Amino acid sequence: MTKYIFVTGGVLSSLGKGITSASVAALLRNSGLNVSMLKIDPYINVDPGTMSPMEHGEVFVTSDGAETDLDIGHYERFLNDTLGKKNNITTGQIYSTVIEKERRGDYLGETIQVVPHITEEIKKRIKSAGKDKDVLVVELGGTIGDIEGLPFYESVRQMKHSLKSRVYNIHVTLVPYVAVADELKTKPTQHSVQELRRIGMTPNMLVCRSEKHIPKEIKKKLSNSCDVEYDSIIEATDARTIYEVPLQFLSDGILKPIMRDLELGDIKPDMKEWRKLTKRIIEPANEIKIAFVGKYLELKESYKSLLESLVHAGAWCDTKVNCKWVDSEDLTNSNLQDMLGDVDGVLVPGGFGERGVNGKLEAIKHAREQKIPYLGICLGMQLALIEFARNVLGLEDANSQEFDKTTKNPIVYLIDEFIDQEGGKQIRTHKSPMGGTLRLGSYECNLKKGTKLREAYSDTERIVERHRHRFEANPKYKEIFENSGMVISGESKGLIETVELQDHPWFVGVQFHPEFTSHLQNPNRTILGFVENTLKLK
Ligand code: GLN
Repeated sequence: MTKYIFVTGGVLSSLGKGITSASVAALLRNSGLNVSMLKIDPYINVDPGTMSPMEHGEVFVTSDGAETDLDIGHYERFLNDTLGKKNNITTGQIYSTVIEKERRGDYLGETIQVVPHITEEIKKRIKSAGKDKDVLVVELGGTIGDIEGLPFYESVRQMKHSLKSRVYNIHVTLVPYVAVADELKTKPTQHSVQELRRIGMTPNMLVCRSEKHIPKEIKKKLSNSCDVEYDSIIEATDARTIYEVPLQFLSDGILKPIMRDLELGDIKPDMKEWRKLTKRIIEPANEIKIAFVGKYLELKESYKSLLESLVHAGAWCDTKVNCKWVDSEDLTNSNLQDMLGDVDGVLVPGGFGERGVNGKLEAIKHAREQKIPYLGICLGMQLALIEFARNVLGLEDANSQEFDKTTKNPIVYLIDEFIDQEGGKQIRTHKSPMGGTLRLGSYECNLKKGTKLREAYSDTERIVERHRHRFEANPKYKEIFENSGMVISGESKGLIETVELQDHPWFVGVQFHPEFTSHLQNPNRTILGFVENTLKLK
């Protein structure tokens, strides 16, 4: 008998609905309940895979190979768990399923409508995500009142009607402070609750984002005017780190009303380890500075998981990882010293397209020659191989087929076929469409004994990490790389997965995206290895 907590947003976006949802879920999970999460995105894209990272932030890749909203990343990090395809639904997915069924004739001549056909499909997917769970926390994307969200709110209303007290609504809202009047204002919250009521929903709890502490009288006023119990008005002031949010909620008594209204029994979360790690994030003993050489720097959200994974690794080493943002398009041989002279480590993240590639190659050369710890992720590994091939092996035209289709030395190339997660053969050509042609999701990788990366994984031979790329390192060059000191440290069924320099304190490239599996309570070992060694070598 799954219980559902729907988290809706009022007044405006960016109030932290994702973190609120993940925090509530984390508290319930750490109380021993079997909890999962679902994100509903009302946009018409089938998934965010084709959206620009500059517009939508990072595309988060799940273990089962789905390209999902970045909030799924927060959910995994807060739940310390693995989610999948079914934990993110979009309007695009709902409509394509319903239209497909209609074309097949499954509806036996009925007229297809938003109610009931679309809402039935939505409810089916919500229930499927909640199957066998004690609690499913569902975040509804967007803000109450948006046209796109209506079918989803209607589905929630219907679920409330049939499941009664097994459905709970947390409404995240803003209580703004007006400086001239020196007052916290409740009116926007009242209005957004009215908007919820208009479509048949009544919130059980208000999470009030505010820059000031919310005094008793304001809570009472909100309780009366919005018809929400006094103990269910929760204050959410700005936290020093997102990992502090569950702790703040806990001390503001968020679990008492949830426990009571959803009849969860007497639960008490064990947040000891969480508290310890959060304290280290807030008051770290050490500091390091790394150059983050990327090209989507205007919107840091496009590197969300990577930034969080640095926080996790930092917390485990009691170290703050400061990022120096280096736009690869601005980086040239002549300003290299200015840009990278004062950093303890260099990080080149994943990326698509040729823009900024030369700057990244410069940064890699600098890290290799100056023996600065280096981590290259996906494109960052591919470029490390290209830099090495050009400057050490003397293959001047070494390149990736992504940037030069006719190069004589395709160090990074488009493989025509590979075996996917389900064991099926995947065919790739230069003409493949953009959407859905990437090597996606979790794949095994075998690490070579005695390598730095294997050491980072406590001498584990077989690791599993997530992928999102179209091109691969070309195994034809394996031997000449290894003979010159670039070791192929990890492979997966003939594909080159990880590389490292022999004659360097810590220079590692990985084809996978280690950041996707990093959790506060379980940091990713590649990232941890990078941070630990950068600290050690500082
Ligand atoms: N553009 C490269 C590829 O498609 C790398 C992708 C990435 O860094 N995620 O293979």
